[in-house]
Amino acid sequence: MPQVLQSAAERAVRYLEKLPARRVGPSEEAVRALAAFEESFPEGPSAPEEVIAMLDDAGSPATMGMAGPRFFGWVIGGTLPAALAAHWLAAAWDQNAGLFIASPIAATLEEVSQRWLLDALGLPAGCGAAFVTGATVANFTALAAARHAVLERVGWDVESRGLFGAPEIQVVAGEEAHPSLVKSLGMLGMGRDRVIRVPTDSQGRMRAELLPELRSPGIVCLQAGNVNTGAFDPAREIIPRARAMSAWVHVDGAFGLWAAASPRYRYLVEGFAGADSWATDAHKWLNVPYDSGLAFVRSPDHLHSAMSLSAAYLPQGEHREPSQYVPELSRRARGVEIWAAMKSLGRSGLAELVDRCCRCARRFADGLSAMGFEVLNDVLLNQVLVSFGAPEVTERVIAGIQEDGTCWCGGTVWQGRHAMRISVSSWATTEADIDRSLEAILRVARAAGAKRAPSPNARQ
Ligand SMILES: *Cc1c(COP(=O)(O)O)cnc(C)c1O
Repeated sequence: MPQVLQSAAERAVRYLEKLPARRVGPSEEAVRALAAFEESFPEGPSAPEEVIAMLDDAGSPATMGMAGPRFFGWVIGGTLPAALAAHWLAAAWDQNAGLFIASPIAATLEEVSQRWLLDALGLPAGCGAAFVTGATVANFTALAAARHAVLERVGWDVESRGLFGAPEIQVVAGEEAHPSLVKSLGMLGMGRDRVIRVPTDSQGRMRAELLPELRSPGIVCLQAGNVNTGAFDPAREIIPRARAMSAWVHVDGAFGLWAAASPRYRYLVEGFAGADSWATDAHKWLNVPYDSGLAFVRSPDHLHSAMSLSAAYLPQGEHREPSQYVPELSRRARGVEIWAAMKSLGRSGLAELVDRCCRCARRFADGLSAMGFEVLNDVLLNQVLVSFGAPEVTERVIAGIQEDGTCWCGGTVWQGRHAMRISVSSWATTEADIDRSLEAILRVARAAGAKRAPSPNARQ
């Protein structure tokens, strides 16, 4: 046992050390070499060291450099050293985090993290919390609590009776709501296509004046941080109106909610704390390993009603029982890494992490504008959308930068315009990484024949 762990740790450290100098995307050759894994189920055992050696030798080269400093593909962050080390230790513990009696340490670190998270994110101290796999399931979990509460108000117990014959819930979301939020609504039987979509503005923000009249039961879903532009729905205007119509307000703040942790960017989330529930990710901006998402619900009872389960063989004590607040029963102890990340950063470190990502995004935008390329969004947070001219030219630049390997950026279509999408969300990214990436983008853009169009942003 110890030898294989030692060797895995050494290999992991070597991998991480080499990562900043390696190409970010895997080479075609490395992807082709994955053929080594295409064998049929082995008839007999292999030595654990051999298993790990194969994983590292053939597997590591075919990874995407997401843990490194110049991966800007999606808003997904890296992993802080303390969070990764805690993840290793917690894996050795192999705790089932379902009940306090099963794992006092897992339950305790969830409780502590819950308090710290609510504090850092500026949410009400008494909220209930669910430690789930990601924002998709966090949306699902929070919206299950919403479904419970709005139907309870009209005298319907949805957990026991289901939705058959239930009063119809009106659900509202912006045109730019994340597809995973709409999927969550579908999984809850509220229908992906039944959602009333509110038109959005040039940044993807819901237009508050177009919020429809709602009758009870109703749910209004806001977004804190659009996945393309980083923009926030106008919570201060919408939440009081939704409340006046007795609607539940849910916030999808997968990464944007973390702006609250920075005194400089906190203004962006003003008003969002007035909602009833929130979904966010820890594996994005908090930089902990996958899978780690969080749902918060103003009234813990609503979350508990939607998620609780009882069985004679599952004793429940005085403590908060983690499994009473999440879809899963057995699961790993996600609170461990969240605690480790927050303990290692502290309030100032977390604010600095958010600030640095935003500052780096600004540096990207300014650099691209100065080169004469058009930045399509207002860069207020960590997201940058840039066009290199005609759609096919922008697509060539995106393919070119992925092939070049200095950094990795993906593409999107924003309001009909093809764009390269740059997300800065890793603790490992520095200003020097932005400058290196800008040089590479300029080189690739020239080779792709991109014209340096004078852009409005460049003139500002
Ligand atoms: C990333 C994201 C999601 C989905 O989160 P997962 O952790 O991938 O499930 C949902 N909403 C928004 C706004 C996001 O950015």
